[in-house]
Amino acid sequence: MRTSSLLSLSLVLCAATLAHAQPASKPAPAAAKTTVTWYGHAAFKIETPSGKSILIDPWLQNPTNPTGKDDVKSVKADLILVTHGHFDHVGDANEIGKRTKAKLVATFDLGGAMVASGYPKDQFGFDTGGNFGGTIPVLDGEVMITFVPAVHSSNIGEAPNVKPGGNPGGFVIAIKNGPTLYHTGDTDVFGDMAQIGKFAKVDLMLACIGDHFTMGPDRAAEAVKLVKPKQVAGMHFGTFPVLNGTPAEFAKALKKAGAGAKVVELKIGTPITL
Ligand SMILES: [Zn+2]
Repeated sequence: MRTSSLLSLSLVLCAATLAHAQPASKPAPAAAKTTVTWYGHAAFKIETPSGKSILIDPWLQNPTNPTGKDDVKSVKADLILVTHGHFDHVGDANEIGKRTKAKLVATFDLGGAMVASGYPKDQFGFDTGGNFGGTIPVLDGEVMITFVPAVHSSNIGEAPNVKPGGNPGGFVIAIKNGPTLYHTGDTDVFGDMAQIGKFAKVDLMLACIGDHFTMGPDRAAEAVKLVKPKQVAGMHFGTFPVLNGTPAEFAKALKKAGAGAKVVELKIGTPITL
């Protein structure tokens, strides 16, 4: 009798201690983060808080990415975004699209041209095709993508089989419970970039800085002034010798231009968390 009441008392105490201890031993899970991985050139992977994977301009086998061959075979993709038709942006999209079944996000013209060149037909349609000024919800509404223009050109294929690839663009990618990113695509600075900064509070701008085919560091710094992002990272440099703009020149130009954004220097293959 005495033993059993002691036993039940200790059980009650034990249960009370456990009940009390539970909140401390089971903290609320930390809010999931967004990560951004650069593969060199204009190629990026964004992983959303829910674990979805978005590739942008997936030329993973570019000369600056030492693991490109393996990355093409293993990278996860739920969506593939392509800014314009050139080989260094369409890149490995067809191969990755076939393996992962990722939907293609592109302007209607570029998407059609990519389907004609081998991207799976049933992975591009009204849901992920758009055009400039339009915003589309993707990944069950976790991400909103806005198509924005770029000053550049866009073709698919190589001579003599060059086909029109629609107008070139960039993307504003707004992630629920996460950051808003702006990938410029290939472009010069243009005054309407101010509109991009007006409609979106950009946390990270991915800006081409290589010069020759796009804006170089000085013009990219002016672009940053128009968009007003919190942070900016240079891309599309160093892949070929002619893309000779450097992050150091870009940082200097930003300072000279009085652009307030913090400069992020990305390392190929090393994700950053936002
Ligand atoms: Zn390019």
